[in-house]
Amino acid sequence: MIFESSIESRKDKKGQIEVICGSMFSGKTEELIRRLNRAKIARQKVEIFKPSIDKRYHEEDVVSHNDTSIRSSPVNFAEDILLWSGGCDVVGIDEVQFFDDQIVSVAQKLALQGKRVILAGLDMDFEGQPFEPMPKLMAIAEYVTKVHAICMKCGDLAAFSFRLSDSKQKVMLGEKESYEARCRKCFYEDKK
Ligand SMILES: [Zn+2]
Repeated sequence: MIFESSIESRKDKKGQIEVICGSMFSGKTEELIRRLNRAKIARQKVEIFKPSIDKRYHEEDVVSHNDTSIRSSPVNFAEDILLWSGGCDVVGIDEVQFFDDQIVSVAQKLALQGKRVILAGLDMDFEGQPFEPMPKLMAIAEYVTKVHAICMKCGDLAAFSFRLSDSKQKVMLGEKESYEARCRKCFYEDKK
C-alpha cells in the first residue's frame, strides 16, 4: 500500500487514526497484527486492546482466525484505553464495533497525544446496516482500508456478513457456524 512507507518512517510525533474494516472472514485482525508487528520490529512501543465482550478465544490475546496472535488487554470501556496506553507509540484496537460511541473521542484523544491509532472492526452488521461506531471512526480517520472476504456462495469478493441462523440479536458471538461471507448479490438474495 502506497501510504504505509510514509506512516512507518515518520519521525515526528504527529498522531493519526487508521481504520481497517470489512466483513467477517476478511482478515481485519490479520491486517491489524501485520501493522503492529512491523511497528514492533521498528522498536515502537505497541499496545493492543479489545472489548472484554469478545471472549471467543484466549482472554489476553488478539487472535485472528489463522491463529497469529499478539498479547492484548481486554477492557470494559473505551475510556479504559486512555488509562492503559500511556507511553506507547502505537495503539491497536480490535473488534471495535463492540465499543460504544465513546471510542470515537478516545481515538481522537490518543491521536492528539501523538499516537498512531489503528482500529479494526466490522463495518456492517448481519442486516447489511452500518455498524456504529465504525462509520464515525471511518469519517475521522486519516486512512481507511476495506479488506474483503470471498463469497462462500459464488466465490466473488465479499463485503457482507450473512447470518445463517434466524436470530435478530445484533451482537451474536461464535463465528464459523453462524455466518458466511457473501457478496452483495448473494447476501440480498438469501436475506430474511
Ligand atoms: Zn456471491
